[in-house]
Amino acid sequence: MRLILLGPPGAGKGTQSKILETEYGVAQIATGDMLRAEVAAGSPVGMEAKAVMAAGGLVSDDIIIRMLKNRVSQPDCQKGFILDGFPRTIPQAEALDALLHEMDMDLDAVIALEVNEPVLVERISGRFSCKTCNAGYHETFKRPKIDGTCDVCGGHEFIHRADDKAETVHARLEAYNAQTAPILPYYRAQGRFFTVDGMAEMDEVSSQIAAILDRLHALN
Ligand code: ADP
Ligand code: ADP
Ligand code: ZN
Repeated sequence: MRLILLGPPGAGKGTQSKILETEYGVAQIATGDMLRAEVAAGSPVGMEAKAVMAAGGLVSDDIIIRMLKNRVSQPDCQKGFILDGFPRTIPQAEALDALLHEMDMDLDAVIALEVNEPVLVERISGRFSCKTCNAGYHETFKRPKIDGTCDVCGGHEFIHRADDKAETVHARLEAYNAQTAPILPYYRAQGRFFTVDGMAEMDEVSSQIAAILDRLHALN
């Protein structure tokens, strides 16, 4: 299965990708997570990306496309992958098309999560994650079952992303509207494009995605 999950920051792409990764045994490819790892490691890519990310802008297509090409060719992507946070621009979408063509691969579906702006802001402001295993949580909508303990790994340390603060959220939403939203019509025109009501509860969103994948599976 090869899938793209689209949607603005805070829409639930990471949450749903992780669920799909577990259920379908395919790799989650989150370019934001990869970039944060580069920043933490102080690599040349990380040093270049750091300021842009902190300001809520988009990292250059060159860097991102190079990173994605390396990732997709790794063995764990053989069974399929879910792209989370990529593509974010038309040039990235075009580079992905070329890459898939080169590798003789097709996309099964492109699924866009629709969430309105006030809810995005609420989701981003309350988001935090486990420092050890990166599991995602929310102060209101998804608290750990035992306060202060990660449901997945039992860890006790949590982090808030540096760019999940009010000042940066606005810039990120602007970058989404200006640079990423234009890829929706690009994929709609290609077919196998679906929208899901991302405002629903997490389980309901998962069921809607599963229903789309089941229908596609029945067609194949
Ligand atoms: P994205 O990867 O699209 O930026 P996340 O999956 O990180 O979004 O979700 C943003 C925040 O909102 C997280 O704190 C997550 O726990 C929470 N969240 C995700 N989906 C939902 C939902 N359907 N309802 C309520 N909160 C959600
Ligand atoms: P969110 O899901 O909340 O939008 P991500 O973790 O996907 O956040 O991305 C965090 C930041 O990393 C973005 O604001 C951007 O600076 C950078 N980034 C991630 N993916 C891409 C991409 N495909 N192209 C350009 N920049 C990216
Ligand atoms: Zn954990």
